[in-house]
Amino acid sequence: MSIFDCFKKKNGKVELDSKQISKMFCYQCQEACKNTGCDVAGMCGKKADTANLQDLLIYSLKGIAVTAKAAGLEKDEKIGKFITDSLFVTVTNTNFDNSRIEKMIEQALEIRNSIKSEHASRISGDLHDSATWNGSTAEYLAKAAEVGVLATDNDDVRSLRELLIYGIKGIAAYAHHAGVLGSEDSVIYAFEIEALASTTENLSVDAMIGLVLKAGEVAVTTMALLDAANTTAYGNPELSKVNIGVGNNPGILISGHDLKDMEELLKQTEGTGIDVYTHSEMLPAHYYPAFKKYKHLVGNYGNAWFKQDKEFESFNGPILMTTNCIVPPKDSYKDRIYTTGTTGYAGIKHIGDREDGKAKDFSEIIELAKKCSAPTEIEKGEIVGGFAHNQVLALADKVVAAVKSGAIKRFIVMAGCDGRHKNRSYFTEIAENLPKDTVILTAGCAKYRYNKLELGDIGGIQEFLTPGSATTVTHWQ
Ligand code: SF4
Repeated sequence: MSIFDCFKKKNGKVELDSKQISKMFCYQCQEACKNTGCDVAGMCGKKADTANLQDLLIYSLKGIAVTAKAAGLEKDEKIGKFITDSLFVTVTNTNFDNSRIEKMIEQALEIRNSIKSEHASRISGDLHDSATWNGSTAEYLAKAAEVGVLATDNDDVRSLRELLIYGIKGIAAYAHHAGVLGSEDSVIYAFEIEALASTTENLSVDAMIGLVLKAGEVAVTTMALLDAANTTAYGNPELSKVNIGVGNNPGILISGHDLKDMEELLKQTEGTGIDVYTHSEMLPAHYYPAFKKYKHLVGNYGNAWFKQDKEFESFNGPILMTTNCIVPPKDSYKDRIYTTGTTGYAGIKHIGDREDGKAKDFSEIIELAKKCSAPTEIEKGEIVGGFAHNQVLALADKVVAAVKSGAIKRFIVMAGCDGRHKNRSYFTEIAENLPKDTVILTAGCAKYRYNKLELGDIGGIQEFLTPGSATTVTHWQ
């Protein structure tokens, strides 16, 4: 490519061609470079080739969606499950393993082509390029260069299409977790297909806005599905105090959102002399009654995801990443960090999926933990959480009485993902300076900015209530 390739002619004027000067383009999360977009490498550590392969995976899913829609297979569970898991793989800090992403692109093309051959009589007319192209692994990056985010020239159309894609990525993350616990809803799968296919069509702005709003509705349906799956399996979260100090036994640190992995790890470590600690996104596991019975679930170690490079180092034992957020591991702990499920990182060991209804096998991690030192203490004390909807309703009389008496004058919602930017300390400053008659409602890992402060309570009601866990959805708001 020469320097002249970086320019294009538009309306008679010569201007920079952003498609050519960018090695990649991703603006799906709040860490985006200069709050605009990562175009050389991701602030999250995602390299350009990984970003481009993820773009091609999304494009391949569009091809499945176009084909499935033409064949009337919008509610097919096998197709829906594949789309859901693949969307989740492209969520920020979930999967940096090119070979896994390539494999998924290959599978996507196979699924799409088999829909065409098995349902040929139902499919008519010309299909979009996403539904017709084929290529070998060696050709993936060249194809990716044609189909990334910037392939849509019009800023408004691009923004609305990408907003919808990010919406269904969030939906997919929740749907994936519900699916792990055996709960699926074909309406969710059908919407993912409708949304993906729509980005290949020339829709009006109103129609695109309508789909974005529908994504919000379907996200609520999906959250309800996951909530029912979690509470059926593990009980309703309860107001709980969580230890943030450490014990003397070696430990395994588990992060991410996958409660089934948590359950199986706790069962397999029981009686082994290994303690289990949660990190970051897994903190809410402590609030579920089913996990409270495990005495070796000792506490939560550390803070939000972005501090993991230091905290994983001082934890001393193995770390299991069940979903996002993994950041590029340091040499000091890369031999004791593992991924599982949708998560992946090239060169990092991956624990395989369940087979034939059996639990995942965490024995390698447990054996490694036995050889490790106990975690180094980085803090002491307890944090309070577990204010999910059932627990909040149990306190409803108290809350209503406090509002009526004037003890509570306002509720403030502070939700979102924590990040490394220094100016995010404004969350802490706001929490510290709010009037004492204020209740903070929280969701997402931004709560680590203030959940260790002594904010007190109002007549027995904790001054911050955490109705939601650190969720993947908040990560790209
Ligand atoms: Fe940048 Fe976020 Fe995309 Fe990573 S996921 S490349 S940090 S915008």
